[in-house]
Amino acid sequence: MSKFLQFKVDLDTFIKDLNLRLETNNKKIEELLEIKDKCYANFVKPLQMMDEYLGQFFTPLSHLNSVCNTEQTQEVYAQSLPIITDYSTKISQNIDIYKAYKKIQEKESSELNYEQKRVLELNILHFELSGAHLDKKTKERLQEINIKKSELSNDFSQNLLNATNEYEYIIEDEKDIEGLPQSDIETAKFEDDNGVIKYKFTLQMPSYIAYMTYGKNRKIRETLYKAYVTRCPQNAIIIDELLALRNEMSNLLGFKNYAEYSLASKMANDEKTVLKFLNDLVDNSQAQAKIEIDELQSIAKEPIQSFDSAYYAELLKKEKYELDEELYRPYFEQKNVINGMFDFLHKLFGIRFEKNDEALWDEKAISYDLYLDDKLVSRLYTDLEARKGKSGGAWMHNWQAHCSDEEGNEQLASAFIVCNFPSSSENNPSLLRHDDVVTLFHEMGHAIHHMLSSVNENEVSGVNGVEWDAVEFPSQFLENFAYEPEVLKLFAKHYKTQETIPDEMIEKLVKSKNFLSASGMLRQLEFSIFDFMLHSKLYKGDKVQNLLDSIRKKTALIQTPSYNKFQNGFSHIFSGGYAAGYYSYKWAEILSADAFFSVIDEGIFESPTAKKYLDIVLKSGGAKSMSELFYELQERDPNPTSLLRLNGIH
Ligand SMILES: [Zn+2]
Repeated sequence: MSKFLQFKVDLDTFIKDLNLRLETNNKKIEELLEIKDKCYANFVKPLQMMDEYLGQFFTPLSHLNSVCNTEQTQEVYAQSLPIITDYSTKISQNIDIYKAYKKIQEKESSELNYEQKRVLELNILHFELSGAHLDKKTKERLQEINIKKSELSNDFSQNLLNATNEYEYIIEDEKDIEGLPQSDIETAKFEDDNGVIKYKFTLQMPSYIAYMTYGKNRKIRETLYKAYVTRCPQNAIIIDELLALRNEMSNLLGFKNYAEYSLASKMANDEKTVLKFLNDLVDNSQAQAKIEIDELQSIAKEPIQSFDSAYYAELLKKEKYELDEELYRPYFEQKNVINGMFDFLHKLFGIRFEKNDEALWDEKAISYDLYLDDKLVSRLYTDLEARKGKSGGAWMHNWQAHCSDEEGNEQLASAFIVCNFPSSSENNPSLLRHDDVVTLFHEMGHAIHHMLSSVNENEVSGVNGVEWDAVEFPSQFLENFAYEPEVLKLFAKHYKTQETIPDEMIEKLVKSKNFLSASGMLRQLEFSIFDFMLHSKLYKGDKVQNLLDSIRKKTALIQTPSYNKFQNGFSHIFSGGYAAGYYSYKWAEILSADAFFSVIDEGIFESPTAKKYLDIVLKSGGAKSMSELFYELQERDPNPTSLLRLNGIH
């Protein structure tokens, strides 16, 4: 029998099979709860595996819906979501399961290994963060808060969407669109009722950015900018309400404030650590950002304002740093890149990918077996080319997790990598941009984090159970190598002439990546500090704006106009999942930059840190906190200067 599941989805019977499965699961849960003497082996393990098998059944459907989307996959997927949600909500509120976990944790504390302890810890935390263990009255209030919160978040994004859609700016004079790329001009162009050609710009992303970046008319840039940053004044009230509810919820759950609540499930220890980390980066980026802004100013005719910076940045970039993507593509032929990446991973970690002939959902999709020290450890499925019916972007999706099942049999891991590279044909190779190469390395970093796990408990194996602010560590770690000459030269060979990519071209890639990096860093830090402080005590009304203004004194080198109400459009934290968590982007970057430079400084292919990274970080998955794993790896805390070095900030 194959060690791996076979990829197949029966759309006609999926919902019936799903319901049947859940019915069986529910019965099994009742039986498990009946057990008198519950322990890890007879209670936790079966529950865990039940979850694993449900995921294994469901993942092919969600995968298929993303890569071979049809009306039928949409329909079946949409039908299945409420069924799954209902099932998992009931389990997450089942207080008897929580009580059993608590008891087992207490009773078996000396017998369980750290993986099993971590499974219990995370499950218990999950229950407690939802308040499932609290008294009835508190639980009712929490539920009210949750409903109100999601209504408010929804209103926030709906208001933003409406305001974005309602606005348009019509340009009649052709002079005003000079300098814009032809494709943007074509998109903006329309004929009015009298047959006159005009150009429409909106606050929607490609359109707004196009004018702000290339539009020569400063007045128009200012008008568009002002419209953009004054959207949705009515969201200010929503912000007040949301902040109050988040604060109340955190208090009910036993936390001082929402920031503390958010950190309970993250790697960062406490509020002080997060703020110090962010503020140190601000201090260390200011000097270079000042130089960058001066350089920008030197090519401008007037003192640069907020609505000028993208425009002058583009001019400067063109003059000094711009790459011609088309010159690079021939060096990044898809097959060469993939084989080169495998070669690199072999040299770095001693792992080996071998193609197998498993039939998959599309003829371009490929299945590989992964060997570590000649032992088969997992399977990877890649689907890398764009086509109709496939969602855009790139992602990794885990399928099976490495673990040992109830009978003690080893189950191997598997994962998918999906990208949207140019499609290839017999006579036309798929030539990638360098950004695509970076993307592939990034997703591969996620994939091997999942696939090289040696953990025996599936809920903390591979990417499962990894803290939210540490998930991007392995992906960014690997991505950094896509700028290293020693790595690029393994595979970046011109597909026609076989000539290796010249050093100057690699240098230019790095310079272009670091263009205006300190100013960019300050901007991200402004958002991160604002988000985090905003959730560290109760802010309301003008105090919200005052807080943002006080942060900008350190982060905004070009003065922000007072009409700018950025917060009313900050959907990451008011309608997305990033509240008191926006800092995570930078947090994971530091871990990855730190580990990356240890490898670089030791010599990539002789690096003992690379081997340790495999043994400690990749093999342990979510079985330990990432702060513990990082400490084991480096025998110290992460060093923020490595992030500055990565961004070329001195
Ligand atoms: Zn990622």
